[in-house]
Amino acid sequence: MPRALVTHGHADHARPGNGAVLATPETLAIMQARYGEAAWREQQALAYGDRLEVGGVSVGLAPAGHVLGSAQAVLEWRGCRVVVSGDYKRRPDPTCAGFEVVPCDLFITEATFGLPVFRHPDDGAEIAKLLASLATYPERAHLVGAYSLGKAQRILALIRQAGYDKPIYLHGALQALTRLYEGFGLDFGALLPATGAAKAELAGEIVLAPPSSLTDRWSRRLGEPVTAMASGWMRVRARVRQRGAELPLVISDHADWDELTRTIAEVEAPEVWVTHGNEDALVHHATQQGIAARALALVGRGEEEQEQDGRASGAEA
Ligand SMILES: [Zn+2]
Ligand SMILES: [Zn+2]
Repeated sequence: MPRALVTHGHADHARPGNGAVLATPETLAIMQARYGEAAWREQQALAYGDRLEVGGVSVGLAPAGHVLGSAQAVLEWRGCRVVVSGDYKRRPDPTCAGFEVVPCDLFITEATFGLPVFRHPDDGAEIAKLLASLATYPERAHLVGAYSLGKAQRILALIRQAGYDKPIYLHGALQALTRLYEGFGLDFGALLPATGAAKAELAGEIVLAPPSSLTDRWSRRLGEPVTAMASGWMRVRARVRQRGAELPLVISDHADWDELTRTIAEVEAPEVWVTHGNEDALVHHATQQGIAARALALVGRGEEEQEQDGRASGAEA
């Protein structure tokens, strides 16, 4: 694209090779870390709350609560305001600014978990399951699969919030982005590289790694680890089996059904377009509320979490 407004750094939203990129400073830093020279020809940072005039349209970015730097695009033209959510969630996340409700005339919402069956549990209770397992099996390493951008850092922060203060071991593929988060002021306590650590050293420790390493050769260095996986998809039994996760942790960076429907109510938009997931149920729900709603088909959309896996697994042998 000659010009791109990028909502956040996940691979299905931030692609390399654009001409000019407009995004938050955090998202630009993430794109730079991932794509280097290929990230763009020109870039411009726009902080939350600042505005910019582009071709007669006033453009702003509001926090989306999804990952560090994630933003909703707020576009205004002749008194009409359009908000493009990007990916978002409503529950608190210690690693990024919380979602801001921006009332608008047209709201374009994601719908990754847009089915009433998706109701994410309390994230503190999920982390408590991990710590309880560690107490039950103090001799086994606990290998936690987490996506490299956002999820891994949130898991670290939640484990620290729960009072766990021993060093946490990181797979090499998670280190660069975790350091980047630290550069933006996040403190995850003591972190050690899992690669190169002896099997005996990792016994009874928490090891964070990209999801693909749960079942690949990399995990053999951990002996007989308890394998956990942190994802909203852990609500779905088939996905748990596919991941080979003994301990599924339902922790998502996307809004669940209640968060999606609550957000649609709060932005008070008379028109809503639904995209990026399970559109139909959410379109039906909004229509019942008297909102003009429809599904928006996006070109070239891939499944984020799969893409994230592929990227992460290639980062370390
Ligand atoms: Zn995302
Ligand atoms: Zn996405």
